Amino acid sequence: MSDSKSLRNYVAPHLRDIPRSGIRDFFEIVSGRKGIISLGIGEPDFMTPWHIREAAIYSLDRGATTYTSNRGLMSLRKAIARYIEEEFQVAYRPDDEILITVGVSEALDLAIRALVSPGDEVMYHEPCYVSYNPVIRFAHAVPVAVTTRPENGFALTREMLEAQVTPRTRVLILNFPTNPTGAILTQSQREDIARFAVAHDLVVITDEIYSELTYDGAERGTIAACPGMRDRTILLHGFSKGWAMTGFRMGYACAPAELSEAMMKIHQYTMLCAPTLSQEAALEALKTRDDTTHMRQAYEKRRNFIWSSLEEMGLACQRPQGAFYAFPKIDRCGLSSKEFALKLLDEEQVACVPGSAFGECGEGFLRCSYATDLEAIKEAMTRLARMVKRLASP
Ligand code: PLP
Repeated sequence: MSDSKSLRNYVAPHLRDIPRSGIRDFFEIVSGRKGIISLGIGEPDFMTPWHIREAAIYSLDRGATTYTSNRGLMSLRKAIARYIEEEFQVAYRPDDEILITVGVSEALDLAIRALVSPGDEVMYHEPCYVSYNPVIRFAHAVPVAVTTRPENGFALTREMLEAQVTPRTRVLILNFPTNPTGAILTQSQREDIARFAVAHDLVVITDEIYSELTYDGAERGTIAACPGMRDRTILLHGFSKGWAMTGFRMGYACAPAELSEAMMKIHQYTMLCAPTLSQEAALEALKTRDDTTHMRQAYEKRRNFIWSSLEEMGLACQRPQGAFYAFPKIDRCGLSSKEFALKLLDEEQVACVPGSAFGECGEGFLRCSYATDLEAIKEAMTRLARMVKRLASP
């Protein structure tokens, strides 16, 4: 164990080949540079609303510094049950079907570990959030990416899934609204996927983290509420995006009791419970819908601006229906997505994430986050348009 070369041999082999997140890699290049406008980060620019921060402060002031029950505060679980039933029309018991976690990140890891054995296949749609593939591999399962395309709004259809399902497939991960494409599902697309899951006896993990952020009056819905799905779905949600609470690390999983119990087992031995003061803050967050409504309206304005700017400068972009990302196609500029993002950074001081960070099929795209203020977005679009023009007429 004397030098770092030999230490590498001590790292579990299945970890050695998993690359670091493409987003982190890119932001190491960005960090330290001055005068950059960042459309890179997937994090709300809003400060957590004051009444929520105040609840966290009061909880410390009252001395709420001990563990909570493993599942989390009962008051919070009850509030979540009410919220999910009102918003998604699906009911979960606070006692044994709701588990409070350290962000959706922990909930996702628990769900995968609770469901798969080595060699099982887990399907998910790509381009997608950077964690799905590694989390599946950490559990010694096999990731199966189903490519979605801009031509049909990055939708996931039953035909696409049927083409890749095998007898080893156990789980399907869904994320609508999608990071990075902003795609959502219609109710009939959702029902079609539900029929597919029932036909192949799969469990669905649905990551609803952006579900507060949908635009153009889109109806809210989850696959958990489709016929036959409640008892084969793990619904993941959290406070990071819709409530601008990323640093609180608050998430939760709603699942039928037996699956919830399996996740609980891992959570209780590895995490014990989610942070108490963050749970108190989350309880306060659920007392009003005003915060999420206000932020959603601001994102929608920015979405309108960024989407029309991209189209005007000739970068084809699916109109994002949710989340806070635009995912324009940049391949006509003759550069890879990483080359394009680096050039944009060097020549125009604008940071966006190369589409390739979100899976192979993200190559040729760029992720522009509009979780930043409108004035900065306007300046970033002026600079991006300038570069696109230069590339078009070398
Ligand atoms: N799921 C998706 C689709 C995300 O985009 C993110 C963060 O960017 C997460 C989960 C992680 O959320 P959390 O902060 O709750 O761990």
